[in-house]
Amino acid sequence: MEFNPRITYFKRGISNKCPRCGVGAILKTLFVRHEICPHCQMKYDRGDGFFSAAMAINYALIAVLYFLPLMLLWLIGWLPGKATVVLCFLGVMTIPILSYRYSQALWLGLYYYVTSENLEESQKEVEK
Ligand SMILES: [Zn+2]
Repeated sequence: MEFNPRITYFKRGISNKCPRCGVGAILKTLFVRHEICPHCQMKYDRGDGFFSAAMAINYALIAVLYFLPLMLLWLIGWLPGKATVVLCFLGVMTIPILSYRYSQALWLGLYYYVTSENLEESQKEVEK
């Protein structure tokens, strides 16, 4: 199979691995992100507001993977209205907190999927 850097960088991001080396973790814990890769020293943050896109990803994931199924279950009558409201409230209070840092790892993989040239250039600088 042919090596596709974009797919590789994206897979590394969604599996919490450094997009450049694929060895170091992006997240230290569920709530703490490494500033640099513990293996290749790549700086994860690309500048002011870089990870703010992770909030949009977090919102989209929660809307599609949590609220949409709940609403569909409520619409077809498998879930009572009060239970739907309670589950929505609990989801709003917990899921964004639990998934925000992972959304940052996902964003990093997505960023290098789109701009893989940037990562390839930084890789060349490391190899020199
Ligand atoms: Zn690395």
